[in-house]
Amino acid sequence: MPRYQPADSLASPRFAGVRTFARLPCIQTTEDVDVAVVGLPFDTGATFKVGARFGPEAIRSASVLLRPYNPELDVHVFTTLSCIDYGDAPVVPGFIQESHATIAATLRPLAEARVVTLCLGGDHSVALPELRALAAVHGPLALVQFDSHGDLWDSYYGGQKYTHGTPFRRAVEEGLILPERSVQLGMRGPLYGREDLQMARDMGFTVLTTTELLSRSPHEIGDLVRARTGDGPVFLSFDIDFFDPAYAPGTGTPEVGGPTSFQGLAYLRACTGVRWIGGDVVEVLPALDHGQITAHLAAQVGYEFLSLVALARQGS
Ligand code: MN
Ligand code: MN
Repeated sequence: MPRYQPADSLASPRFAGVRTFARLPCIQTTEDVDVAVVGLPFDTGATFKVGARFGPEAIRSASVLLRPYNPELDVHVFTTLSCIDYGDAPVVPGFIQESHATIAATLRPLAEARVVTLCLGGDHSVALPELRALAAVHGPLALVQFDSHGDLWDSYYGGQKYTHGTPFRRAVEEGLILPERSVQLGMRGPLYGREDLQMARDMGFTVLTTTELLSRSPHEIGDLVRARTGDGPVFLSFDIDFFDPAYAPGTGTPEVGGPTSFQGLAYLRACTGVRWIGGDVVEVLPALDHGQITAHLAAQVGYEFLSLVALARQGS
């Protein structure tokens, strides 16, 4: 059996105890660990509503409801993988590049130990230090991004290069991700011009708008993701605003007319057979949430990612 497992919710009730992701032990180690969940409580990169710094806390609180067996993927997540909650990376509120440095420094030893990381955001700017830490160890990564926005803008507000709208442009420039192996799913909403979507495609990304995505089955999307990402290491970045705000109201830059939670989870579960080496779920803003709708969905997204990692581990 794996060394680190969640508390047994048949032995102690799920509402009891200190909140960690899925009731996992909170410990800072890389020994006998397959997956580490890491909170990134940072939101200085947000360009509209702020408060995603409280996202990790909210996701952890909702995640105590998760159970160890995933019937949709037929996998026992926590008897396949040894998982821990690593706690939060130290951040410097108000200071983006300093925080990116502390986040990357926190994640780097995990990557070096080949521990898969699941990070809880935080605004989407945190994806950049995640990719810096992982690519330093694994080399350039394929990206699978669920998001209503491409986050490929060059800069904001007179040349500001580091916001939650720019992480993947920086990642391409720094050679951290391979656009020709990367897929962006769910883009929608008003843009500044036709060239905004074309820019991503010109850079080499495969881009499916929400309309294009929903016209295809999860099976087709799984095939597309496997074909694009190939055999190399792959990073999942899941912005909760991928979902329609009816299903994820607690987020800072919502876009209406999106997938339901049922649809989005089905697309994510279809991404089997991929060499996941890290992932995140970001942009959860609890102050705008209602009844923990968004937090529960984000916890489920994280759980599906763990399930995909567990399936891959079973297969190898
Ligand atoms: Mn977004
Ligand atoms: Mn985003």
